[in-house]
Amino acid sequence: MKIGVLALQGDFREHMDILKRLGVEPVKVRTKKDLKDVKGLIIPGGESTTIGNLLVKNGLKIELEKKNKKNFPIFGSCAGAILLSKKIKGSTQPHLNFIDVEIKRNAYGRQQESFETTLEVFDKPFHSIFIRSPRIESTGKKVEILAEYNSSPVLARQKNILICTFHPELTDDTRIHELFLQMCSQHQ
Ligand code: GLN
Repeated sequence: MKIGVLALQGDFREHMDILKRLGVEPVKVRTKKDLKDVKGLIIPGGESTTIGNLLVKNGLKIELEKKNKKNFPIFGSCAGAILLSKKIKGSTQPHLNFIDVEIKRNAYGRQQESFETTLEVFDKPFHSIFIRSPRIESTGKKVEILAEYNSSPVLARQKNILICTFHPELTDDTRIHELFLQMCSQHQ
């Protein structure tokens, strides 16, 4: 199975390494042609404004909007989660509006306030790294909350879209990527 990793900016290499460890072939996605044979797409952490502007410029935003209508699986971590959200608090930056959440950028403060913690994910501890992370402030009825930190959702899913506000690609725990691969293999 081939899985795309959006490689416009951010920590896409770390996601590619995890995919390789899980035995799937990562494909760098920079143009809409690169999306042709992939069964799903990961949008990495990075700078959501930069990635969003490049999505528009490269024609990928329109292409992903078409694919989302056909339930194409997409997983966004951190900046990726921001880009997939319906509403970004106080911002009009380009984004994809694929999951019914309102999200606030840099909600835990600046780089110095980045932190690591242990969350409960699928009934087991998950070492979680938050780097200038956003906070999910509200979720629509169709959004399933899969993990929380201080009573805010940090891992959530709506149908074909999975988001997390931390960086599972920076740890050895591959369970969130495994869930995403299941979503991809179930998609026709
Ligand atoms: N603060 C970044 C943004 O708003 C996201 C940070 C990250 O992806 N680690 O885009």
